[in-house]
Amino acid sequence: MDVHVADHPLIAHKLTYLRDKRTDSPTFRRLAEELVTLLAYEATRDVRVEPFDIETPVAPTTGIKLSNPKPIIVPILRAGLGMLDGMVKLLPSAEVGFLGMIRNEETLEVSTYANRLPDDLTGRQVFILDPMLATGGTLVMAIDYLTSKGARDITAVCLLAAPEGIKHLEDELSESNIPVKVVLGTIDEKLNEKGYIVPGLGDAGDRLYGVV
Ligand code: URA
Repeated sequence: MDVHVADHPLIAHKLTYLRDKRTDSPTFRRLAEELVTLLAYEATRDVRVEPFDIETPVAPTTGIKLSNPKPIIVPILRAGLGMLDGMVKLLPSAEVGFLGMIRNEETLEVSTYANRLPDDLTGRQVFILDPMLATGGTLVMAIDYLTSKGARDITAVCLLAAPEGIKHLEDELSESNIPVKVVLGTIDEKLNEKGYIVPGLGDAGDRLYGVV
């Protein structure tokens, strides 16, 4: 597993305001979108391209364009939705699929409650969006599901991660041979006994959309 932690003062600045409990939902949503656009720049470093002939007003030249099939972006509902606009800004021609996953707050077990994805993901580059890599349970399940549909090129983009979650993901993935890249805003100190990232930012879904 390839873990990339963004090291940029603008990301650290925006994360600080995102964490602050005084930040209201509209500001939180805007910051999450801006952060994802910055992380997407790194996450798409290996996006597949092919040569493309054009003519400038001065001369013919060969550039590149995104290859087909286009990448697919998969936000994990509900909190991953808050990352979608920021990602689509950078990859407007990507398709978007959805995976709904929920964590039982008592047992911390994850289950899938919705999905809207192509049946066959063979040959597709997949970008998973989930703001919090906490226990790693959600990402493990999502990656498992996507690989069962044929995906072999998966990048997860997360705003915050706990060391325990990264380790869990690494352990699970070491048994398969699927190369997964994880792009993170930062790695926090730890998980608490309730499975929250410390210092973290609280419940990302609630902070984006309110307690519903
Ligand atoms: N999910 C969240 O929204 N926050 C955490 O800290 C952990 C999981």
